[in-house]
Amino acid sequence: MPTAYLEEINTWEAQIARSDVAAQKLKLNEGLWKILREPSREVIVHIPVQLDDGRLEVFTGFRVQHSIDRGPAKGGIRYTPDVTLDETRALASWMTWKCAVVDIPFGGAAGGVICDPDKLSKRELERLTRRYTAELMELLGPEKDVPGPDINTDGQIMAWIMDTYSMHVRHTVNAVVTGKPLELGGSHGRIEATGRGLMIVCDEAAKKLGMSPDQTRVVIQGFGNVGSNAARLMRRRGYKIVGVSTSKSGLYNKNGIDIEALSLYYQHHRTLSDFPGSEETTSAELLVTDCDILIPAALENQITTRNAERVKAKVLCEGANGPTTAEADEILVDKGVFVIPDILANSGGVTVSYFEWVQDRQGYFWTEAVVNDYLQHTMRTAFAEVLKYAETHGVSNRIAAYMLAIDRVAFTLRQRGIYA
Ligand code: NAD
Repeated sequence: MPTAYLEEINTWEAQIARSDVAAQKLKLNEGLWKILREPSREVIVHIPVQLDDGRLEVFTGFRVQHSIDRGPAKGGIRYTPDVTLDETRALASWMTWKCAVVDIPFGGAAGGVICDPDKLSKRELERLTRRYTAELMELLGPEKDVPGPDINTDGQIMAWIMDTYSMHVRHTVNAVVTGKPLELGGSHGRIEATGRGLMIVCDEAAKKLGMSPDQTRVVIQGFGNVGSNAARLMRRRGYKIVGVSTSKSGLYNKNGIDIEALSLYYQHHRTLSDFPGSEETTSAELLVTDCDILIPAALENQITTRNAERVKAKVLCEGANGPTTAEADEILVDKGVFVIPDILANSGGVTVSYFEWVQDRQGYFWTEAVVNDYLQHTMRTAFAEVLKYAETHGVSNRIAAYMLAIDRVAFTLRQRGIYA
């Protein structure tokens, strides 16, 4: 099965479906919600790039700023062949809610360029990234909009964005982007941050449900930045990782996969296939495999009405943004699955991005132990707050996370008032 299922799902509508419910539960003023639910700014750019063979190609890119109410807009940039404006809108609004759930002073943004990075050389990728940045110059800045990595973008791409922005303003501005290499003002712990955050919330869920890590079987969909780091860190904590997958293949081993060995194997072969000691399976099959914790860490819309009923995990911990559709959500709630929603579960990445931005601005860099400690504190606090909200209001964890976030952003908006 290539991606999810051949079901037409609009990611923006899936996001809105949940946030509308949360706003209603909060009895939020209708006008206020009209402002908060829509992105405040959307930009489409057409990016000319000279290819290595001399041809000129034009790529389309987006940047959406959903909110700047609580601070600069913050959000990743993805390079995928099928990214759309609607998907970017959804990602931008998830960033607003995510930053509010962990209570960091950022708004939400997201960006994307329609391209297949596998088909571009490194020089072409650099030219594409630099021109995309140049097209967005007026929007970006440490006080305005701070991009970070997402699917198919990494520290090198962040370095090019930082350099391009710095060349335009004629001085080095490392706080314009996060997820940079350490030498350029990156933060210790940023690469693992989203995976570490997933482990922290899984630990909290396990404590609450009386599960001990060494008795807990985990399946992870996606073996990129988020999935592979979650797998490595959770294995070290004692969790048994019984299944992992990429877009091309999947592995299952009921006794637990040797994740350190798999990471080395994957680095070397760029595939999970033929890894010794595990059965080959598919990504779709793994989503409904018997396990205790399921971590989708790849794409949106993976758990849908087609497979939600067959999900066997006790805990769904969402590493990806929007991996579960609104309809599937209801099925999971009815089945009693303990859901740790994306805007809480994967907020470790943006939390350490915030720490990176703080370190860049103060010109003083923390040790990895300090970063990890602050991350743990932030995520445990957010987890407890979401659960308390869910209990107090009698809603699911997901709706509780949205309610907490929307309430925080609405509070800021009320205090600031509407500029006219
Ligand atoms: P990545 O590009 O590093 O990795 C994506 C992984 O997903 C790859 O292993 C790819 O093979 C796999 N994949 C793609 N389609 C798949 C499929 N159908 N089945 C199984 N695997 C599939 O991206 P990433 O940074 O790890 O991001 C993954 C998800 O996490 C995205 O939804 C992203 O928005 C979200 N996220 C990322 C961060 C971050 O810090 N990188 C933070 C928060 C949320």
